[in-house]
Amino acid sequence: MSAPSENMPIAVTAPRAKPLLLRHLPYFVGAVILVTLTATLRVDGYIHNILMQATTFAIAVFGLSVVLGLCGQINLAQAAFFGFGAYAVGIGTSDYHISYWLCLAAGCVMALLAGALLGISTLRLGGHYLAMVTISFQQIVTLIMINTIWLTHGPDGVSNIGRPALFQSPQSYLAFCVATLALVGYFVWHLPDMKLGRAMRAVRDNELAAGVSGIDVFRTKVYAFALCAALGGLAGGLFAGGFAYVSPDQFSFAESIVFLTMSLLGGVASPIGSAIGTGLLILIPEWLRFLKSVPGLYLAIYGLFVILIIRYMPDGIWGFVSAALDRWRSHAEPVAVSAPLRLMPATVGGDTVLEVTGLSKYFGGLKAVDAVDIAVKRGSVHALIGPNGSGKTTTLNVLSGLYKATAGRILLDGTDITNLPPHLRTAAGLGRTFQNIRLFRSMTALENVEIGAERPGNTLIGEGGDNALTARAMEALTFVGLGPRANELISSFSYGHQRLIEIARALAANPTLLLLDEPAAGLNSSEKLELHELLKRIAAQGLTILIIDHDMTLVSEAAQHITVLNFGRRIADGESMAVLRHPDVVSAYLGTE
Ligand code: ADP
Ligand code: MG
Repeated sequence: MSAPSENMPIAVTAPRAKPLLLRHLPYFVGAVILVTLTATLRVDGYIHNILMQATTFAIAVFGLSVVLGLCGQINLAQAAFFGFGAYAVGIGTSDYHISYWLCLAAGCVMALLAGALLGISTLRLGGHYLAMVTISFQQIVTLIMINTIWLTHGPDGVSNIGRPALFQSPQSYLAFCVATLALVGYFVWHLPDMKLGRAMRAVRDNELAAGVSGIDVFRTKVYAFALCAALGGLAGGLFAGGFAYVSPDQFSFAESIVFLTMSLLGGVASPIGSAIGTGLLILIPEWLRFLKSVPGLYLAIYGLFVILIIRYMPDGIWGFVSAALDRWRSHAEPVAVSAPLRLMPATVGGDTVLEVTGLSKYFGGLKAVDAVDIAVKRGSVHALIGPNGSGKTTTLNVLSGLYKATAGRILLDGTDITNLPPHLRTAAGLGRTFQNIRLFRSMTALENVEIGAERPGNTLIGEGGDNALTARAMEALTFVGLGPRANELISSFSYGHQRLIEIARALAANPTLLLLDEPAAGLNSSEKLELHELLKRIAAQGLTILIIDHDMTLVSEAAQHITVLNFGRRIADGESMAVLRHPDVVSAYLGTE
C-alpha cells in the first residue's frame, strides 16, 4: 500500500469536461454520411434486402447487448418482441389503415410492456429459470401468431404493409432505418456511462455488492429487460415496413437463437460487436450460397464457423479486437482532483447510531445469530469479535439486508431498517465492505468508487452530475492512497489494495455507519499498519465504525467498545479492555483449561 496521500496534488484534466455532443461529432458526421450514401447510391434489390435485414436485425441485437452484455440477464425471446413490433405495424397499417408512426410507437410500447411484465414476474428467479420462462413466452407468442387467424391471418401472414408517406421508396425507407440504427447505436454506446448503465454493469458484475452500494438490483434488471424488448419492438416495426410482408416463422424461437448468436458472435459487450455479429450472420449464408447444391454441407460449414469464432474469441469478435487494441493503447488518462475527502455522517438520531435488539438469524436448526443486542455509539469505533463461525458475518449480513432477520429489530440513526431491502438501507446511510472482497471486476477502480458515490441520499453529490461524482470518487480513492491508479482495472490491484478500493467505495457514499468485515484479513503486516492508520483517519472525521476483526492488537487499539459473540450468542459487551479480560472471552478464544 502506498502512503496515504490525501493532499498530494495530481494532474488535473477533467475527463468529462467536453460536452458529449462535441466529443462525438465524428460519430454523427459518419452517420450522416452513411445515411446520405444509403439514400443516394443505387443498389440492386437483392443487396437492398440484405441491407434492410441487417439494419433492422442490428437494432434488435442492440437490445441484447443491453440486457445480456450490460446487465448479464438472458433473453431467449427477442424474436417475440421483434414480432410485437412487426405485427403492430403489419396489422395496423394493412388491415386498419392506421398511421405507420402510431403503429410503430404502439409496437414499441407493447414490446416494452410485455418485456417489463415478463421481467417483473421472473427476474427475481434469475439464471436458468429466466431462460426457461423466456423460451415459454417465445413459444406462446409464436402460437398466438399462428392461431389467432382473425387478427394475425395465421400462417399466411400479413401483406401489403404500409410505410410512412415521407419514406415511400424502398431506398428512402432504408435510409430512415439506417438513421434510426445510428441513433439507437449512439444511445446504446453511451448507456454504460449513464447512471442506469452503470447500475446495470454493477448488477452484472456483482449483485450483492450492487445492492449494498445502493442500487435497486431488481428494478435495474427489469429496466434492462424492458429496454431490450422495446428495441426488439422498434426493430420489428422497421422490418415490417421494409419487407411489406410478415409471417409467424420469421419470429420463431429459432430466430431468437439467431439474435443471440449474432450478439455473442460479434461481442455482446458493445453495440459495435452487435453490428459486426449481425452483419456476419446475415452475410455468411449468402457467401455460402454456392454450396447449397450439396444438402447439409452449407449448414455444417456455417455451424463450424460459428463454433470456431465462439471457441477462440469467447468475448466475440469485437471483444477480441478491442482487447488487442487496449493492449497497446495506454488509457491511463489522469483524472481531475480533488479536495481532501470530507466525511459528513448524518446526525439525525441521538447518541446511538445503531441499535440492534434481539437480533436472530436461523439457518434451519442452526442458530447462527441468537438474540443479539448491539448498541453502537455515535462517533465511536465498535468492534464485533468472536471465534470463527460465531456469527459475526451473519450479523453483518442481516444488518445490511442480505439476509432477512429471523427475529429482532434494527434501528439506524433512529430509523427502523429491519425490513428494508439492501439498497434502501444503503440509502438510509449504511455502508459496508465484505469479508471476501466484492468489487465490480470489469470496471476501473474509479468506476467502482463512483458506484458507491452515487448512493441515493448522498447529499454531498446532490445534483452535481457526473463531474461531482467523479470528483467525489477521486477524493475517496486519494484518501485511501490509490488516487494515481484510479483508471486501472480491478485485476491489476493487489489483494490489499482491492480492500482499500472497497473501503473507498463505501466512504464515497458518505455513510452514517460503516460496517467493515475483517478488513485486515489477508494483509501483510505493513499493510495492516497502514489499514490501522486509515481507520484512525476515518474515525477522526467522526464516522461511526462497526468492525469485525481477528487482530486483537488492532481491535484493542482502535475500538473503544467491543461486543463478543460465541455460537451466535453475545457473551460479553462493554469497554474494550474490560471485555478482553472477561473470563468468558478468554475461554472462548483460548479454551478453558
Ligand atoms: P463468522 O463470520 O463469525 O466466522 P458466520 O457468520 O460466517 O461466522 O457463520 C456463522 C454460522 O452460520 C456458521 O456455522 C456458518 O456455517 C453458518 N452459516 C453462515 N451463512 C450460512 C448460510 N447462508 N447458510 C447456512 N449456514 C450458514
Ligand atoms: Mg466472517
